[in-house]
Formats: sequence, C-alpha cells, structure tokens
Amino acid sequence: MKQHFIRIITASALFILLALQVVWLYNTYNLLKNDIRKECNEILEKALYEEVDIIANNLKEGFTIGTRVVESSLNDSINEFTYLYDGLSKNNYLSLNRIDSIAGELLDANNFNVDYSINIVNPRTLDLIRKSNNNHETSWYTIGSKVLVTRLDMSEGIELILNNPINLIFQRINHLLVSTLIIMLFIIACLIYQTNLIFVLKRILQLREDFTYALIHDMKSPLSTIFMTLNFLHSGRMDSKPEMKKKYFQIAEEEADKLLKLTNKVLTISKLEKQKMEMRLSCVALAPMLERLIEKFKAKSEKPLHFALDLKVPTVTADEEYLEEVFSNLIDNAVKYSNKEEVEISITSETDKAYTIIRVHDNGMGIAQKHLPNVFNKYERGAASKRIRKGGATGFGLGLNFVQQIIEAHRGKVFANSIENEFTEIIIYLPNQLLAEEN
Ligand code: ATP
Ligand code: MG
Repeated sequence: MKQHFIRIITASALFILLALQVVWLYNTYNLLKNDIRKECNEILEKALYEEVDIIANNLKEGFTIGTRVVESSLNDSINEFTYLYDGLSKNNYLSLNRIDSIAGELLDANNFNVDYSINIVNPRTLDLIRKSNNNHETSWYTIGSKVLVTRLDMSEGIELILNNPINLIFQRINHLLVSTLIIMLFIIACLIYQTNLIFVLKRILQLREDFTYALIHDMKSPLSTIFMTLNFLHSGRMDSKPEMKKKYFQIAEEEADKLLKLTNKVLTISKLEKQKMEMRLSCVALAPMLERLIEKFKAKSEKPLHFALDLKVPTVTADEEYLEEVFSNLIDNAVKYSNKEEVEISITSETDKAYTIIRVHDNGMGIAQKHLPNVFNKYERGAASKRIRKGGATGFGLGLNFVQQIIEAHRGKVFANSIENEFTEIIIYLPNQLLAEEN
C-alpha cells in the first residue's frame, strides 16, 4: 500500500470520527435545549400560578374575573387559564415585575445562573409588546419558554426568555465534552500509533527485501567464482601451468575470504549487541595499519585512489584487529560510494583532552541530509538501496553499524557529516584514558 493511501485512509477515518462526534454533540445540544425549554415552561407556569395566588388573596370577596363560557363561540383550543389571565390583565391585576421576580427565584432554585426576562409578546407574530421592568439585556442567543396566551383575543401572550444561556449549556454538557475530548484524543493517539506501526512494518519489509537482494547478490558472485575456479583446477587443465594455477587458487581464496568477512561482520555485530565481546586493547600505531589497508584497496580498485594521511596522533588505544576492520569498512564505503573519476580520501588524527579524533574524509557522492541520522542503523542503506537495482554498489547496510558497535565497545563515539555530491566525513572519537582505565 502506498504511503499516501494510508495517510488518506487515516485522515478520512479521523474526519468521519470527528463528524460523528459533531453530530452526536449537536443532537445532545438539541436534547438539552428542549429540556431547558421544558423547565422554562414549568417555571413560567409556576410563576403565573403564584402570581394568581397572590392576586386572589388580595381580591375582595365576590369579585368575578370571568370564566370559560361553555359551548362558547371561542376557540376550544384556548387554555382554561387564558380566561383567568384575560380577566386579570384586563383589570390590570397581573404585574409583570412581580412575575419576573417570582420567576427569578424559581430560576435560582433550579440553578439557572443566567440572565432572563419576562416578555409580553404577540402570540402569533412573537413581536415584543412589553418587557418586565428590569435591566435585563437582550442578547444574540436566547432560549425561551412557549408563549402562554393571556388574552382571549390572542393579542397578548407571556414568555420567559433566557438570555445568553451558553454558560448554562456548557455547565450541563461539561462532563460530556470532557469525556468526548478524552475519547477523541485517545482514538487519535491510537490512530497515529497504528499509522506509525504500519510505516515501521513497511520499512522492515523494505529492509528485508533489500537485505535479501544484497545477500543473494554478494554471496552469489563469490560462490560462483569459487565454484568456477575449483572446477577449472579440478579438470587438470591447469596442471601444466603452475603460474595460472596459483592465480586461480588466489582468486578462490580471496572470494572465500570475502564470504568469511561478511559472516564475521554479522556475527561480531550480534555479539556486540549482546555485549558478549571484549576488546583486547593495546597501543596501536595508526600509520602501518592504514598503509596496509591502502595497499590492499589500491590493488583491487578499478579507479585511481589517492590517500592523504595527516596523523598528528600516531597511536591509539584500541583492539587492533577490530580497529583495522573499522578502517577497512570506512575506506570500502569511500571507494564504493565514489562518483568521481578519482577517489580522494584523507585520514587525519588529532587530540583534544579526552579523545583522539580520527576523521575519514572522501570526495564521493555524499549522503542526503534525510538519511544522515540513520546511516548507523543496521541494514540502513539510505539512497543506496534504491541504486543497487540500477547497478549501484551493493551492501548490507552493516558496515557503519559495525563501526559504531566497535567504537562504542571502546567507549568512543562516531558521527557522520556529509554534503551530497561533495563529501562524506566519518568522525571517530576514541577515549585517551581507555588503556589506563582498563589496566
Ligand atoms: P555493507 O557495508 O554492509 O557492505 P553498506 O555499505 O550499504 O553495506 P554501510 O557501510 O553501513 O552499509 O553504509 C550505510 C549507507 O550509508 C550506505 O548504503 C550508503 O548509502 C551510505 N554511505 C556510507 N558511507 C558512505 C560514503 N563514504 N559516501 C556516501 N555514502 C555513504
Ligand atoms: Mg559499507
């Protein structure tokens, strides 16, 4: 699966999830709004009931307000209370401000900490006729009770309006929001983790494929060379030409050595990883070791190799055998990843207080910045893995990991510095105190 396809699926999953959450929250909000509206209805009815009670207590005995006329011509759908309110408001008994303060107390008792107003409106058009006499401000967002009709001719109704009930809604929806947020964050974290896992798996698959390819390539050619030379030697055709025979034996030996070195590299890395290897430290002279390697590489290289040695520190404390392998890997890379007619390699050594610093610098194709942090990883070949199929240098991505493991076993450090198409420099820090500590 292509990476962008996985990204699209993940992004779509996240989008659908978010959309579902939004729909769910919107529905919850609507339910909540209906609940608040119902509570407002009850509060307004209760406030009106209390108001009527107060008026009734103050009326003289025998006062008639007016009541429902049985089989009247008026609309039957009119609430019975409307007859009562109609009678009271006609006589100016209903006090809007008193209803307001009763409603306020009831709202407080129900934990509605919001601004509100009691309005007289036209029940048909909902146009405002009068407001209760207070400082309540009107706001852009309100929730209101239903309009209770107070006039039989449908000219007036009364309603309770909550101004700006956002805080109230948040207060009620709070725990839902928090839990939704936690679930969302959890799901997003899971999705990100899962996507990363897919990429890691993809990377491992790719590495395995590259490794198998390189393994087959690098093992097949020495094996077939060995097989061919042995066949030749066995046929007896070389018996009369001892010089040629010697050469063929040498070729077979070199190829077998290549295979052995490869197996040793893998074994050493795995031993070093399990910390089962000890370095046999001694004082190693750098110049003779490097000259030996230079000879070897010059002999087998197809391109001209130029080496420049500037060893301000002539000796280091290290395991000679493994240090030679380290340089062999670094020079091998410098030659292998060269894109110039002539390969120029400079090797320098200097010291600061704690470390001897050795630099192996080449004028090759360099390493892209994005691959630089990973080149010391096992099986990591950066852009080289793509190039092998186009005839580029083969390898297992083990060389630099081997170098790192060996240098770290010496309690040292190793870094890579490079500019693509200009240079690559591997910088090794070997501690100066190592030998003294070990002894
Ligand atoms: P192996 O060394 O196991 O045969 P390799 O050379 O591919 O295989 P490393 O030596 O670990 O593996 O190098 C890792 C990668 O870093 C290489 O594949 C290459 O892309 C890049 N690299 C290492 N050294 C150099 C260099 N001197 N110049 C340019 N690229 C380099
Ligand atoms: Mg290498």
